[in-house]
Amino acid sequence: MDALLEGLNAAQRSAVTSPASVLQVLAPPGSGKTKTLTARVAYLINHERLQPWNIVVCTFTIKAAREMKERIRGFVGDGIEAKLILGTFHSVARRFLIRYGQEIGIDKNFGIADTTDSKAIIKRIITRHQYTIDPSQARSRISGLKARGTTAEQFAATSKKADQHEFMSIYTEYEDTLRACNQLDYDDLLLRCTELLQKHPACVSTIQAVLIDEYQDTNNVQYELMTLMAQWMKRITIVGDPDQSIYSFRAAEIKNLLRMRSDYPDSIVINLEMNYRSSDCILRSAMAVIEQDQGRLNKEMRSTHGFGERPTLRHLATNQVEAQWIVEEICRSKTLTAGLLGFNDFAILVRSASLSLSIERALGKAGIPYRMVGGRRFFDRAEIKIVLDYLRVINQPEHNDALTRIINVPTRKIGEVTVKALLEEAETKKITLWNLILGCARGKPPQTKISPQAQRGLDTFVNLILTSRRKLIPEDGEECHLLDLISHVLQKISFQNYLRVTHKDNWEDRWANVEELVAQATQMVSITDGYADSDDVLPEVEGVEQRKDTSADTLSKFLANVALSTEMERPDGEKPEQVTISTIHAAKGLEWPIVFIPAVYDGSIPHSRAEDHDEERRLLYVGMTRAQALLYMSCPAKQSAQDETTLSKFLTPKKVQDLLMLQGPSFKSDLVQDLSRILRRPCPSTIDFNKAQGLVERIEDDWYPLSRKEIDGEEGSWGASYDRDDGSKNAFKRRKVETS
Ligand code: ATP
Ligand code: MG
Repeated sequence: MDALLEGLNAAQRSAVTSPASVLQVLAPPGSGKTKTLTARVAYLINHERLQPWNIVVCTFTIKAAREMKERIRGFVGDGIEAKLILGTFHSVARRFLIRYGQEIGIDKNFGIADTTDSKAIIKRIITRHQYTIDPSQARSRISGLKARGTTAEQFAATSKKADQHEFMSIYTEYEDTLRACNQLDYDDLLLRCTELLQKHPACVSTIQAVLIDEYQDTNNVQYELMTLMAQWMKRITIVGDPDQSIYSFRAAEIKNLLRMRSDYPDSIVINLEMNYRSSDCILRSAMAVIEQDQGRLNKEMRSTHGFGERPTLRHLATNQVEAQWIVEEICRSKTLTAGLLGFNDFAILVRSASLSLSIERALGKAGIPYRMVGGRRFFDRAEIKIVLDYLRVINQPEHNDALTRIINVPTRKIGEVTVKALLEEAETKKITLWNLILGCARGKPPQTKISPQAQRGLDTFVNLILTSRRKLIPEDGEECHLLDLISHVLQKISFQNYLRVTHKDNWEDRWANVEELVAQATQMVSITDGYADSDDVLPEVEGVEQRKDTSADTLSKFLANVALSTEMERPDGEKPEQVTISTIHAAKGLEWPIVFIPAVYDGSIPHSRAEDHDEERRLLYVGMTRAQALLYMSCPAKQSAQDETTLSKFLTPKKVQDLLMLQGPSFKSDLVQDLSRILRRPCPSTIDFNKAQGLVERIEDDWYPLSRKEIDGEEGSWGASYDRDDGSKNAFKRRKVETS
């Protein structure tokens, strides 16, 4: 049989080879939807002879895009997968806009305003008018309207309420500012691409198939985009699972599943029922949670693995104790399975990023390496932001926000008051701040009074940007090397020295981050990671003007990559042997042998601010179904200074409770054999189960602070001891916690 179809079950195979033009694969987690979608892409290339650039594939995250590419490469041969139009909706839209956007008046050099940029613009508008609206709220409201395709004008026309006046003027002014700075925000990428494809269908005349993963989380604009991209051949494959819809806050419309059936009455639905990911017991407990949702269709789901170990539900005293317990369980299961598990087999999935703090601390103290997904972005670190802002200004001097942030960093004796006055003057004159200071450096003084010192500072700054821009677009036609450009800037602003002076205690770490950025800059534009491919893949089409990728675009491509790497993901290459900490949202589509879900109490999940508890339940369901072999959930009786907590209502029904155990797995030989089967890894033969059992008994003892002697004797234990902040050693053993 074709290697492509090997390792697929009958239902998956029929989906991969289906001649149907519109195909919906709806199936529960772990049933191989993503695997099937990937195989279908390869099938279209190998068997139906589609060219990779005839195929659009939309994934939900950059990580997913990268993984999918790797899998496809295995089937179609090296290099072919790079020519696919594959990435997140946003990155696919960006590629169309770069290539053909001038048809609708989009300047090729457009920048992408990320969430931070958008918020900064809105904040400035609010401050200027002394409005009372919260900037974050205004931003998400604007984004919500845009995601639904409602423009400021349309909103103004429909909303007559007087109290909407403030919001409306913010929305309008925000849009004007983006336009003036030649920026598109995330929503614009999708909206403008929709506009492009509506007005110039020729842009997609070569697209012969559109495939979409995690379809349940597409919103109206994305649906529109999908339809438009497929408007010629009407060949669409979507895979998804309504039970995993967790993005309604981004206006994902589950209705789009039904809409698709009425828009494409010939569409064929294929269900997959076998679950290849999780043990039967994990699956059953997840099902018991999701079945509490009255409004859903009941679906069959069977595990291909044995019953496995019951998921653990542990009650603990505080979130610190909880964090410590997680650390111990990680070390314990690693020790007791004698090399079967590595740190990268563990994931800790949290409802909100803020919950990870105590866990990070505990992991850090125990010396366990971890990586954060969905936390603070690498690109949001102060020192990185400064460098990026320089690059933004060099790329696009009209980027007022970036310019304002760095004009006096490192200090050039241009005071805050002066900057503010200059900004206001520029706004009054309706020119960009850059044009104002450029004139100023060229002997056209502004109205704002500037001290001679500040004037010298401005001159230096303008000079730096101008020389850097010359490097960017070299006159002799040579290529711009991003690396040279960044080095030039870092050297001109003596950045290392600046960090050394401003951050005496940790300037080395910060400088290391900058070096990491430089390494990434060179990597990002060359590797094929889902969005960094050449935009030239999109073909030339008659009647539509297109732009060529030139060397000067390297910088804007890099900056776009930075902007499109969402808060959800870290771009830095994954290092092996790290525990993953992630939000549940960002864990969508992924799997780990062992998963912890801490803080399962009411107020955390369901979240206290969440209105839609069905969606919160689905979120827990997504979290639970990430686990392959072992699932741990825990509920601290106290979360920080907060009141007493109560167990999440999603876990209280008897049907769920019956499937859970309270103490955690005991790692007897059966379990280890089970684990090795599920993970398809050879069972370690060297485990001394008696010794292991001894360890287990010791750990089942009460928690109590250890004496100095005991601590010394504890060496090489599983990380239960750590240094206290005051420098003294502190260690605990387990204390039994009352479970009700
Ligand atoms: P989710 O809804 O969580 O995104 P999914 O339906 O996309 O899940 P996949 O990630 O494609 O599921 O597959 C889950 C796991 O099962 C993967 O490890 C995959 O390799 C494996 N798998 C899928 N189908 C098969 C099969 N026919 N034989 C063996 N393993 C399979
Ligand atoms: Mg998937």
